[in-house]
Amino acid sequence: MQTGSLSSEQVQACANLPASTTEVRPWAVVLAAGFGTRMVAATGRPKQFLEYDGAPLYWRSALTFSRVSRVSGLVFVFPAHCLEEEKQRLCQLDAGSTLGLPWLAVAGGELRQDSVNNALAVLPPPCRHVLVHDAARPFASTALINRVCDALSKGAPGVIPGVAVNDTIKIVTGGTVAQTLDRSTLSAVQTPQGFALTPLREAHTRAKAEGWTVTDDAALLERCGTPVRVVEGEAANAKLTTPEDLRMLESPQNFPLPCSGFGYDVHRFGPGRPLKLGGVLMPGSMEVVAHSDGDVLLHALMDAILGCACAGDIGQHFPDTSAVFDNADSAVLLDDVLRITAEAGVRLVQVDLTIITQKPKISPQRGSIQTNVARLLSLPQNRVNVKATTEEGLGFTGAGQGIKAVAMVTGLRC
Ligand code: MG
Repeated sequence: MQTGSLSSEQVQACANLPASTTEVRPWAVVLAAGFGTRMVAATGRPKQFLEYDGAPLYWRSALTFSRVSRVSGLVFVFPAHCLEEEKQRLCQLDAGSTLGLPWLAVAGGELRQDSVNNALAVLPPPCRHVLVHDAARPFASTALINRVCDALSKGAPGVIPGVAVNDTIKIVTGGTVAQTLDRSTLSAVQTPQGFALTPLREAHTRAKAEGWTVTDDAALLERCGTPVRVVEGEAANAKLTTPEDLRMLESPQNFPLPCSGFGYDVHRFGPGRPLKLGGVLMPGSMEVVAHSDGDVLLHALMDAILGCACAGDIGQHFPDTSAVFDNADSAVLLDDVLRITAEAGVRLVQVDLTIITQKPKISPQRGSIQTNVARLLSLPQNRVNVKATTEEGLGFTGAGQGIKAVAMVTGLRC
């Protein structure tokens, strides 16, 4: 048996599960031992090892299984010649126990069913259900996995996802149609396929003894006369087969994901810096206590932008213990924040700012603040909103002791 990150203690822990439990807690088998000739001819390597989101494609399925709480562990099946290499790669990918599950890695066999059989042979003894999944279907959802598990929980010995067939299917012999099948009874079958382990092992034993060759595990149960239940599959759970299918791998990288950040800042009124909001000097003699220029609105905005980029806060980037930032112009610091944000691949889309203070009155300067912040961010004015409110005389702003600001920033991460 080849073991990956599964320690002997973990195997023991699995073995100590009460044998009487009726809860379905399957192990999942991720089949990554195939050699799709069309894809290899086009890309130079089997599809399950294509890079996707910074990891081999099979890792995507592993992550999905790891998010299903009742999945107990994983068995990866790799071609024998690269088993050790992939085990090392798995150890790197799973550093810090990303999966949060025990896992094993085994060598595949000549046929798909041989690979499954090798995986079944290493499952810990108390395991009574298994999910068999093709790594070439990287987009199976947790909802689908749960659907298969639910049917297993109700006692089905075999469960497969199926989707309705939209094309008319004909049996063709020697280039001539021999028969048109009734489409309403047809189902395109996917993985993960779920099984009670005992009938699946028995079916594999018979297949070996009697020389059956099949393309999925459900077919083995069918030949043994064991009923196989069909649950709703997913159109998105497509199998990558041809080089054209690689387009399915492109969209996540090219499609920007929305992100957002929140910022909050407070400054006390007192002798120090003249009050500036959004880079606009407020008329009058009001001052704030501050290490930098004390622009409470730009400080909240910078924290929100850093939040959007998952890049910490302004205290980390511009510590108020550093002399460098003494009376620092917040607009200059904002430039640095925008550089950090751009490097993180985040493009700002919209900001919503609120100033909370009893005094001074903000409305006369609201337009100037909006214009200046839009300029600093290189955003159109209709993407920058500035609001102001009081706290009805309550709290420290109500008492006129200080001023606060909050900011919400929306961005797109490319
Ligand atoms: Mg501040």
